[in-house]
Amino acid sequence: MIKLFNTMTKTKQEGTSEIVTMYTCGPTVYLDPHIGNWRTFIFYDTLARALKVAGHDVRHVLNITDVGHLVSDGDTGEDKLSTTAKSQRKTAWEVAEHYTNLFLTELEQLGMLTPTKLPKATDHIRQQIDMVKRIEAKGYTYTIDDGVYFDTAKLDDYGKLAGGVKADEDFARINKNSNKRSPEDFALWKFSPANEKRDMEWDSPWGVGFPGWHLECSAMAKEYLGETIDIHAGGVDHIPVHHTNEIAQSETANGVEFAKIWAHAEFMKVDGAKMSKSKGNFYTLSDIAEQGFSPLDFRYLVLQGHYRTETNFTWDNLRSAQNALRNLKRTYDLVHQTSEEVADQSESIALAQEELLSAILDDLNTPQALSAISSVATMTTNGLGAQSRQTFIEFFQIIDKVFGLQIVKSSQDISDEQKDLIEKREIAKRAKDYTQADSIRDELLEQGLELLDNNDTTRWQRVY
Ligand code: AMP
Ligand code: ZN
Repeated sequence: MIKLFNTMTKTKQEGTSEIVTMYTCGPTVYLDPHIGNWRTFIFYDTLARALKVAGHDVRHVLNITDVGHLVSDGDTGEDKLSTTAKSQRKTAWEVAEHYTNLFLTELEQLGMLTPTKLPKATDHIRQQIDMVKRIEAKGYTYTIDDGVYFDTAKLDDYGKLAGGVKADEDFARINKNSNKRSPEDFALWKFSPANEKRDMEWDSPWGVGFPGWHLECSAMAKEYLGETIDIHAGGVDHIPVHHTNEIAQSETANGVEFAKIWAHAEFMKVDGAKMSKSKGNFYTLSDIAEQGFSPLDFRYLVLQGHYRTETNFTWDNLRSAQNALRNLKRTYDLVHQTSEEVADQSESIALAQEELLSAILDDLNTPQALSAISSVATMTTNGLGAQSRQTFIEFFQIIDKVFGLQIVKSSQDISDEQKDLIEKREIAKRAKDYTQADSIRDELLEQGLELLDNNDTTRWQRVY
């Protein structure tokens, strides 16, 4: 059973159902996702993995926002996709396709499990219009010049998730200038501008236009997971506006609680400063690759912090994460290779495994779970005897299941040719042909494999 911090109740809560339904707010597909976005998406994936390890059957929906997310998180400014479409001289549809594909490629590179569903807002216009109709029928909407709005004053518990915390000053300033009855009111349906044909627009009972940003999540969560879901997750910035408004819409339309647990990831900063797509002070996975780091190095860095703590990205931190991950891979590589029988370590490994699992099941304490691994790594310096080895291999399979670091997978890469060379060198050594033995050693080193001789045995280790 997993315990998870609920932003709504401010307590850690335990889920009980066998099937867990989880809706997570996905990317707005108008630019390369930045590493802050990935921090939040890695949190979703770690949560899904932890739930699976705890024995739940997870139904995970991660949406693709391809319409309606305006430049301000309020309801003013241009659609984010339109800004890119203009600057790249493409249609909003082309922009959406390009960045959706990029997101899916990077999702895989980061070792993420494919969510059960990845629905797009533009594929669910009917469901969104239906939801506005329900809200309208209950008397919670009003229409002004640029759209249909939710009348938040009519809801006694509006804002209950944020508990009085309001959106930032920018949001309040922008919202004061509109004709809305209250700054917190938000668009359910926006009208296309009178003098402009948008790339993405649809007919509706209220006029041609497009759905408000929050609506897609309420409509798609209902479509795929039902009216009350177990877990709803996002970044902390979603608490005062996006999730608050999703709750208002869903609970008004459906008349039942929207989500049992609200889980939020804290932000990632870069060199101690706030990052945002609009300010341009952000890095992407390609920037990281250009500096010689793999997406999984970054994943390790993210896991080193607790999801409810702000993390700071620096190149030094990334280098340490890369080293730590390489050490784990080396450890795993070494264990596979024969060595003299040493004391049976199975019990200590089993203990570390227990520590890892209890840390992860306690509100995803990934830093503590990672430290449980390092204690085992030191046991393997001289290799492991047959009995401990099996326990160790199983332990690493669990590590990969929980963290998605692909250590076992990447360790199987040594080729048959390399195995042959190691064998040939053994023969040369036994025949005291040290010239050939050394030349094979050099050849393997060039291929990234270092040979470690210890008495009569030789093991290989990767050099990076
Ligand atoms: P967007 O593509 O802007 O819709 O954002 C996608 C997700 O990334 C949302 O869940 C945001 O809360 C999250 N997010 C945005 N910036 C950051 C950041 N600096 N650190 C962590 N998460 C972020
Ligand atoms: Zn959402």
